[in-house]
Amino acid sequence: MNLAASARYYWNVKLAGKAVLRWRRWQAEQHPHVPSKWRTDILAPPMRIGARTKELIAMHYLEGRYVNGHRPVAWVTSGGPVEILQALGFYVLYPENHGALCGTRRVVVDISSEAENAGYSRDICSYARTDIGAMLSGKTPVGRLPKPDLLLACTNICQTVLFWYRVLAHHFHVPLVLIDTPFVYTDATDHAIEFVKKQLEDSIPIAEQVAGRKLDYRKLKEATRLSKDASQLWLEIMGRGKHRPAPISVFDQFIHMAPIVEMRGEKVTVDFYAAMLKEVDERISKGIGVVKNERKRLLWDNLPIWYRLRYLSEYLGKHGIAVVASTYTNAWGELAPLIDPERPIESMARTYIYPILNRGTKYKLDTMKRMIDEFQLDGVILHSDRSCKPYSIGQVDQRNKLIRDYGVPALLLEADHDDPRAYAEEQAASRLAAFVEMLED
Ligand code: SF4
Repeated sequence: MNLAASARYYWNVKLAGKAVLRWRRWQAEQHPHVPSKWRTDILAPPMRIGARTKELIAMHYLEGRYVNGHRPVAWVTSGGPVEILQALGFYVLYPENHGALCGTRRVVVDISSEAENAGYSRDICSYARTDIGAMLSGKTPVGRLPKPDLLLACTNICQTVLFWYRVLAHHFHVPLVLIDTPFVYTDATDHAIEFVKKQLEDSIPIAEQVAGRKLDYRKLKEATRLSKDASQLWLEIMGRGKHRPAPISVFDQFIHMAPIVEMRGEKVTVDFYAAMLKEVDERISKGIGVVKNERKRLLWDNLPIWYRLRYLSEYLGKHGIAVVASTYTNAWGELAPLIDPERPIESMARTYIYPILNRGTKYKLDTMKRMIDEFQLDGVILHSDRSCKPYSIGQVDQRNKLIRDYGVPALLLEADHDDPRAYAEEQAASRLAAFVEMLED
């Protein structure tokens, strides 16, 4: 720890930054503001919790701006086991979340072009390109990203992360911990779980060395408990979508999911989702539906199209269509029951081997079918995501099965989660229009 860096950190983050962000949140809560272009004729006003979401995310990135030299920094893949790092006091950055933020701010083309000009193909995941572009150019809408002292990549979401994090390790000259999770076709074998557990145990001395301290198992249990509590609350929030009219949509979930991805294992995240659940329940008790005059309900498959959230929610809302469930947001809550704070390492091995992207396509189809029944859905939009191949593989078969075997209307919508150059405006609009017309018949 560097004394000058710590002084800068305390002044800019814990004193001035915290006070300014708290003041802005307080003002936003006292005078809730509905953006002038918000379609209040078809949608409920934005959730009040939005002021707190903004504060949390702004605080997280402000901390990142001043954290080097004060706390060790780890860059981690979105499905990576983070609790050991949390217990060791790391500041954790998720490049995919930063990529999503760049997507909503519409700066992905500018930043990923820096990677493309350096030779990285446009076929590579747009999160990876955005992150490598930010690394090469320093461009980011959050001011500055901290340099990592450690990298942790877990293959439970895809193999892209392996090659991506090797590029980061080479650039920053820092250790890369790889947690390799064998693919699960039906159930994970004891051998596979033991294999992941051994890797987690082996990662501890490396992380300890970078952090300059020993792992305190009481802190690890506490971080694991906080992860479980936050995931459980998130699962409950999503489950409220079963109500008619649905109090929140998946577009709300996309906007408010950042803390469950990048702040697992922290108390502030548990408090945040407890408050969000309360607001959702208030909406239910007042009969407020996220879409006024809800007539049809849909499932969303795959990542969001970050740069078209508003357009999609308004377009569908205009037709009385609420998108109330999503396989993607569900992935951040469905594993909560597997987390056991009393056996952190073992339960971490079990939890992190089971994400939807590390399982066969049949599991996803079964999940969709279950959600269609539980949420009483009328159709499915499968976002065929150009640069997230692992999530998109098998979607043509899944769509055909949904239509033929289950009699559920399903649309394959081609786009990319972050790169608007892969989104054909007119083609998407005409496909959506045809799908909506079919639902209305
Ligand atoms: S390819 Fe898909 S799963 Fe892998 S990092 Fe990109 S968005 Fe995430």
